[in-house]
Amino acid sequence: HIVVLGSTNMDLVAYVERAPRRGETVTGRAFRTFPGGKGANQAVAAARAGATVSMIGAVGTDGFGGRLRAALEHSGVDTDLLRTVEGASGTAHIVVDDEGGNAIVVVPGANAALTGLTHGDEALITCADLLLLQLETPLDGVLAAARYARDHGVRTVLTPAPAQSLPPELLDAVDLLVANEHEAAALTGATDPRTAAHKLLDQVPDVVVTLGAEGCLYATRGAEPVTVPAPRVTAVDTTGAGDTFVGALAAALGEGRPLPSALAWASSAAALSVGRPGAAASMPYRTEIDAEAEA
Ligand code: ADP
Repeated sequence: HIVVLGSTNMDLVAYVERAPRRGETVTGRAFRTFPGGKGANQAVAAARAGATVSMIGAVGTDGFGGRLRAALEHSGVDTDLLRTVEGASGTAHIVVDDEGGNAIVVVPGANAALTGLTHGDEALITCADLLLLQLETPLDGVLAAARYARDHGVRTVLTPAPAQSLPPELLDAVDLLVANEHEAAALTGATDPRTAAHKLLDQVPDVVVTLGAEGCLYATRGAEPVTVPAPRVTAVDTTGAGDTFVGALAAALGEGRPLPSALAWASSAAALSVGRPGAAASMPYRTEIDAEAEA
């Protein structure tokens, strides 16, 4: 059983030839909405990968709240501990231009209410095989969850996104850190992934730095870091690759697979997602991942 504590956002995407400058109005080609947020994306990825998943989060009383909850439930994520708080849901306002570049404003909305654990959250975490955390909800809540999990012997996986430096007490409470190159650099000041991973091992026993098409680097205390290659695919849309990777990794670890084999399986899942359009929509199901992993 996997518990995810994290964000739920509605992604509001405008497709334009080029983004407007300050004071300017441009006409867009199309507008679409997608349920997202790193927490919710990881929860969906883990559920599709075959895990039993519960989400601790918050949505608003606006029209998006119900849709965000329904999207999680549609992928089989348990939402009993997803609170509904008065006001707006989290939103990400995204402008995508014709060259594929984007500009994004994230308004946390209801996610800002996630500042600590309820007794219900604590009871759920106590029974979990694994707790997944990211940084799109207030740090106080993330820290409280990491500490509670550590004190109750529950393994914790942190994705340090959005990239930032972190209080040492958070990293000290984490068992596995999964960062992309940019996040690993923000945490350590080292742009070389091997150097960054090495520094992070001072605080976290297992570190994975994802390297896009190059796969990922796995570092553990007392051993040389190893690279796990990514399957070769034609990338169609890499949004959500990292969340798919972490969700599938969590599902495999929750079943007791050792890290190296879980990383290979997660790489297959992430490769499938980059070969198809959409973030959550492109996340693969267990049978697809198994087929890709055996290929
Ligand atoms: P993020 O999405 O957080 O920026 P990465 O770009 O490092 O993170 O991607 C996460 C994982 O997704 C990689 O470790 C890899 O397994 C997979 N991945 C990403 N891009 C590709 C690609 N072009 N081909 C194959 N796998 C990919």
